[in-house]
Amino acid sequence: MKFKNTLAFSKQLDKEDKISYLREKFHIPKDQHGDEWLYFTGNSLGLQPKSTKEYINQELEDWANLGVEGHFEAKHPWLNYHEYLTDKMAKIVGAKPIEVVVMNTLTTNLHLLMVSFYRPTKTKYKIVIESDAFPSDRYAVESQLKFHGFSKEDVIEWKPKKGSALLDIEDLETIVKEQGNEIALLLIGGVNYYTGQFLNLKRITEIGHSKDCVVGIDLAHGAGNVQPNLHDSGVDFAAWCTYKYLNSGPGSLAGIFVHEKHSKNKDLPRFAGWWNHNKATRFNMRQPFDVMEGAEGWQLSNPPILSMAAIKASLDLFDKVGMDALREKSEKLTGYFEFLINEIDSEDIKIITPSNPKERGCQLSIQVKNADKNLHKQLTAQHIITDWREPDVIRCAPVPMYNSFEDVYQMVTILQTLL
Ligand SMILES: *Cc1c(COP(=O)(O)O)cnc(C)c1O
Repeated sequence: MKFKNTLAFSKQLDKEDKISYLREKFHIPKDQHGDEWLYFTGNSLGLQPKSTKEYINQELEDWANLGVEGHFEAKHPWLNYHEYLTDKMAKIVGAKPIEVVVMNTLTTNLHLLMVSFYRPTKTKYKIVIESDAFPSDRYAVESQLKFHGFSKEDVIEWKPKKGSALLDIEDLETIVKEQGNEIALLLIGGVNYYTGQFLNLKRITEIGHSKDCVVGIDLAHGAGNVQPNLHDSGVDFAAWCTYKYLNSGPGSLAGIFVHEKHSKNKDLPRFAGWWNHNKATRFNMRQPFDVMEGAEGWQLSNPPILSMAAIKASLDLFDKVGMDALREKSEKLTGYFEFLINEIDSEDIKIITPSNPKERGCQLSIQVKNADKNLHKQLTAQHIITDWREPDVIRCAPVPMYNSFEDVYQMVTILQTLL
C-alpha cells in the first residue's frame, strides 16, 4: 500500500472528488506570503463561505433603505426570517421541519429545553452525562440540579472503561438498569468533542426510555458532520451550535430539535416571550399567551437577522451539496488521514477516535505520549491549525466541505518530520 503515501496519489484523490469545487467557495486563511494554512479546526470554528458577506450586506442595505419596513419589505422579510432556515436545517439533522428552529445560542437552548424536559421529582431527579462532557454542558446540568434543590453530586457519569478513551453503550445500559428509577434525564454529546466518538443515538434513546428517562442530545460536534437522523432516533430533544461544522461565524445562533411527539403538548412547562406566541395574533399585543406548536414554541425573542443571514449563506451551500455527498467524502478523507498517520512509525502518537467510520465523524483525536504539548506548538508554527485539548490530545478535523486530500497528505508529511 506504500504507493498511497505520495503527493501524487493525494492529488489523484482530489481529482476524483466530485465535490472538490466547494473549497473555492470558502476563504482559506493565508500566511504573510500568501500561502494557505492547513486548516483542521472546522470542528471549533468553521471557515467563512465567500457568499456570507453578500448575504449580510443584503440585510444591511435593506435596513439602511427601509428601516422598520424591512420586517415586511426587505428582499427576505425579517419577520419570517428564521423560517428560511428551518427546512434546510431539518434535512441536515434528519428531522421534520416542525421539529427544528434556529434560535439563541447552544448553552442557552440547553437550559430552555431543560426547563421543559428536566422535570425532577423527589425520587427521580438524577442526570446522566458523559464523564468527559464539554464543560459548558456539565455546568449547565449542575446548575439545573441546584436550581431544583439538588446538588452536583446528583450527576451520574457515564465513563469509559479503564484503559480505554471510548464509551461503551453497555455501561450506559448498566447505569440505567441499576439506577434508572432515580434518573430523570440523559443529556449526552452525540459526537464527543474530545474523542470524536459518534454514539448510537437510537440505542441511547431506547435505553433511556426503557426506564422513563427523558433523552436529550448535544449535537454541537454532530450537526453538519454526521447524519444523526434525529427523528428516527426518537430522542426527545437536541441542541447544537452553527459556528463549528455549519460555518456560520463566531458565536452565531444555534439550532434546537424537539421531537414531533411533543410538538402539540401545550402543557409542557416552558418560558415564554412574544416569539413563541401564535404568529397570527402576535401583533395584537393583547391576547393571552397562546403557544405555537413544534420547536418554534420555544423561541422567546425576535432574532438577530445579521447572524441568521450568515446561517442562510452556509445552509444554502449544505442544501446544494447534501449531507449524503458530504458524508461519502468525509469517510474517504478521514480514512485516508487515518491510513497516513498509521503509516508513521512512531510510539509517540496514537489515534483514540474509533476506527469504524460509523462510529465517528471527520475528527481524529491524536493522543500524544507524555502529554508533550510541543508537537502542537510546532504544527501551529508551520501554519497547520489543529487544537490541543488537555490533558494530551491534538484534535484534527479534515472537513469535507473545504479540506482536500492534499491538505491531509501535507499535514501528515510535516507531522512525520516533527516526530
Ligand atoms: C462548542 C460546544 C459548546 C459551546 O456552547 P456555546 O453555548 O455555543 O458557547 C457547548 N457544548 C458542546 C458539546 C460544544 O461542543
